[in-house]
Amino acid sequence: MNKIKKILPGSIAEEMEIESGDILLSINNKKVVDIIDLMYLTNDEFIVVEIQKKEGEIWELEIDKEFDEVLGIEFENPIIDDATRCSNNCVFCFIDQLPPNMRSTLYFKDDDSRLSFLQGNFVTLTNLNEDKFKRIIEYRISPINVSVHTTNPELRVKMLGNRFAGNIMERLEKLTSNGIVVNAQIVLCPGYNDGDELSRTLGELITLGGNLQSVAIVPIGLTKHRKGLIEMQGFDDVTSKQVIDIVHPFQEIALKKIGTRFAFLADEFYLLSGVPFPPYEAYEAFIQHEDGVGMIRKLDHEVRAVLASNRYNMGISRRVLILTGVAAYPCLVSLAESVMAVFPKVKIDVVKIENAFFGERITVAGLVTGTDIKKQVLSAEHCDAILLPVSMFRAEEDVMLDDCSITDLETHYHKPVVKVGELGIDFVESILYGGK
Ligand code: SF4
Repeated sequence: MNKIKKILPGSIAEEMEIESGDILLSINNKKVVDIIDLMYLTNDEFIVVEIQKKEGEIWELEIDKEFDEVLGIEFENPIIDDATRCSNNCVFCFIDQLPPNMRSTLYFKDDDSRLSFLQGNFVTLTNLNEDKFKRIIEYRISPINVSVHTTNPELRVKMLGNRFAGNIMERLEKLTSNGIVVNAQIVLCPGYNDGDELSRTLGELITLGGNLQSVAIVPIGLTKHRKGLIEMQGFDDVTSKQVIDIVHPFQEIALKKIGTRFAFLADEFYLLSGVPFPPYEAYEAFIQHEDGVGMIRKLDHEVRAVLASNRYNMGISRRVLILTGVAAYPCLVSLAESVMAVFPKVKIDVVKIENAFFGERITVAGLVTGTDIKKQVLSAEHCDAILLPVSMFRAEEDVMLDDCSITDLETHYHKPVVKVGELGIDFVESILYGGK
């Protein structure tokens, strides 16, 4: 149902008196099947929009607008249509390793190119028939994020638990040769797609040309709830270093040959191995930042630039608590020390939260839950505010994975709780003013 949830302030929809609760019936006499349809059909200077008002009345609105100006409506279901479910049974699937009794939406395994385009979700391309392929190309659903994992057909079938998963190179070729930009992901699993298989995958992906824009390599995540599933190994300091020793030389060759390093490693490989992070420039445009690639280097670079700008009152007095996961803890301590060196009256305590909820092998900040915070941070009495990275919260929500909200934490600690954005300026300003 194309039921409208929200009208953006100042938008065409607001001007036309479209309201939440109204139903979008058609645009230019065509039914709007999903959000891609909406984007495609509204890309014009004159459109006719048919709306059913809450009271049942039908309105036909003739709209003159800029070619790419959006209507400014959001739907109860963000992609309008139901999301496509994945048809795989991946050996490393994180959803299979979730504890029971979490919010039901967390167990939904989507594999939908529309969500990839709109929200950056990764798709495997295993459930696309000819028509869906055509639609991606015709409607220019680009860029899309593709979970490749390996280009070895037999290995991909085994890793994805899907006998139709093998022809990934053919599918990628079809997209990229038709102008669709693809950012690829490899979830690296020791003993499966690392070592020579990783070299093979990178060597084959790079042959697809410029529209295969980048490859993110991220390590498998293993929770303590991995019961009744195939035994899998995680990465440690030695095996992480082995991955870096494959990818860094590959990056150098790629840079010389095609002008980009092409493949980028998730921060976890550096944190686990102790190998220093590459310089800021080596992440190029930070294309795969959302996938945990270059987050720490970027934050570090930006915080130091903000501190060097001398734009704040150095005499400001604050005491804050910063919470993070085990992996990023040393980096955040170092950043906090840099801030305190510039602001002598600012006191920052960084606390690492061990992940008891998912198990100790999960060390990223993004999977820390309120349950663990409440168990491990017994008091916040002496601080002015508690700062949590935005990655601990579900997209555009103030709720963590275990449904603990900012309000819950504020009630628990009787202190302001601040969600800190990803930029260096967010980090510094949250310390100085957050929760005031
Ligand atoms: S594609 Fe694989 S990893 Fe993703 S949800 Fe499906 S089974 Fe899980």
